[in-house]
Amino acid sequence: MDNANEMKLELNSIAQNESFARIVVAAFMSTTNPTLEEVLDVKTAVSEAVTNSIIHGYERGVGKIEIYARVVDRSLYLEITDYGRGIDNVEKAMEPLYTTKPEQDRSGMGFSFMEAMMNKIEVISKPEKGTKVKMWKEIGEESHLLD
Ligand code: ATP
Ligand code: MG
Repeated sequence: MDNANEMKLELNSIAQNESFARIVVAAFMSTTNPTLEEVLDVKTAVSEAVTNSIIHGYERGVGKIEIYARVVDRSLYLEITDYGRGIDNVEKAMEPLYTTKPEQDRSGMGFSFMEAMMNKIEVISKPEKGTKVKMWKEIGEESHLLD
């Protein structure tokens, strides 16, 4: 393998850690030689997933959020995991505009943004057990040239 690397990070679910998490992942992925646009896409996806763990997963307190990242050549794989309240119906939660917190000015677009910014996302969740978001992105595809 030309360029394989892994990292793991465990954070408390407090608001300041959302920016910390996206900066760490952005630094970690630098060996893939991403464009600024690709870095911004990944930062946005990480922010959305970590924010969800903070406000939905651990809505009643502070818990642990785990971030696992792996790079192989120019492929990035990410997992963001919490052990919070979980999601009853993942398919429904992932629909655009679906939110269980409309009163808190949530727009229900977090999963849609993650899907738009990354090549693929998968969500595994169990009520009262927690939620794991898996995300993949190929760096260097230059998909924006085809837009
Ligand atoms: P926005 O992200 O636009 O601020 P939102 O967070 O409600 O709004 P999504 O990020 O798309 O929208 O999430 C949709 C719904 O899925 C949430 O309203 C919440 O009910 C549920 N959800 C998402 N992530 C988690 C999580 N980690 N733990 C528990 N529930 C979650
Ligand atoms: Mg969200």
